[in-house]
Amino acid sequence: MRAALMMKKGLLEVGEIPDPRPRAGEALVEVERAGICGSDLVTLAGGRPKELPRVLGHEFAGTLLDIQGNTGYPFKPGDRVVAEPISGCGTCRSCRNGLYNVCDDRVILGVETDGVFAQYVRVPLENLLKIPDEMSFEEAALVQPVAVAVHAFRRTAFRGGSAATVLGAGPIGALLTMLARASGGTTVVVSEPNPFRRELMEKLGFPVIDPKAEDPVAAALSHLGEGDEGFDVVFDAAGTTNSVQQATEMTRVGGEVMMVATYHGIPDIGIVSGRKREVNYLTTRAHIFDDFRASLNLISSRQLDVRPLITNEIGLDEVPGAFDNLSSGGPMMKVLCQP
Ligand SMILES: [Zn+2]
Ligand SMILES: [Zn+2]
Repeated sequence: MRAALMMKKGLLEVGEIPDPRPRAGEALVEVERAGICGSDLVTLAGGRPKELPRVLGHEFAGTLLDIQGNTGYPFKPGDRVVAEPISGCGTCRSCRNGLYNVCDDRVILGVETDGVFAQYVRVPLENLLKIPDEMSFEEAALVQPVAVAVHAFRRTAFRGGSAATVLGAGPIGALLTMLARASGGTTVVVSEPNPFRRELMEKLGFPVIDPKAEDPVAAALSHLGEGDEGFDVVFDAAGTTNSVQQATEMTRVGGEVMMVATYHGIPDIGIVSGRKREVNYLTTRAHIFDDFRASLNLISSRQLDVRPLITNEIGLDEVPGAFDNLSSGGPMMKVLCQP
């Protein structure tokens, strides 16, 4: 089959490799759509996989072709599916509490095993979910990133009537912004330096801030009503050196800063000011199975319409170029590949 392969750190090439052969308890799935994630760029740049070449990618929707082993799972060839890309070890304390997202020995599709920028992928049956007939493969390919946003969102105290700012409108930031509004948020503001992404969020009806042109803290606070001294929840999906500090300054007394980004190094979180106002700092990592169920429901009911975020549809050959384009801040939001 053809696949986009990480050959070594920083080098992605499209090539031919043998078709994957599912083992007992696994399914062979034909990839219909695969999404490029910011973490794929990090994996390629950081050289994380131990075995190379490696097929990258973990966001996808596909058609089930084959099942190995008599497993008792309610799947059959022809089913339209998505899959949780994380498998925990199953035996550690976190896994036994259902928190395989924080398992130290977790195995991630497209990092520890071959991923989805390929014609076929093998996945454990226990990780599969069927998608409703009316859901397109394009929308279904966003179930995983939506699950990331849902997991972060559920860890906050955000509720109808709350106000939020989201720092960073990459796909996860954009989804958190949409989720906050769909959940009854009053004021939902988003800050993003990329003009293409800012314009997209503006078209979706959100007040946007250009953090390079204006002070994002003052700009965000200017959207609040009189007497509101800060936001209930500020999501940091930017992960820059001072974004948590900015989030802290935007938060009301007793409010929450949800740190969604993957941080490299130690950010200045503005703890002196945060402590004086009893700001709650929260973290989040990936998702658990229930987040997938919630995500499927949000998308199929169109409470969350993810379609405007799909800005590019490409073939396998264009995947390496799209990685470059995304890394250099090109005019893209969610890029879907049809292998
Ligand atoms: Zn992802
Ligand atoms: Zn574990």
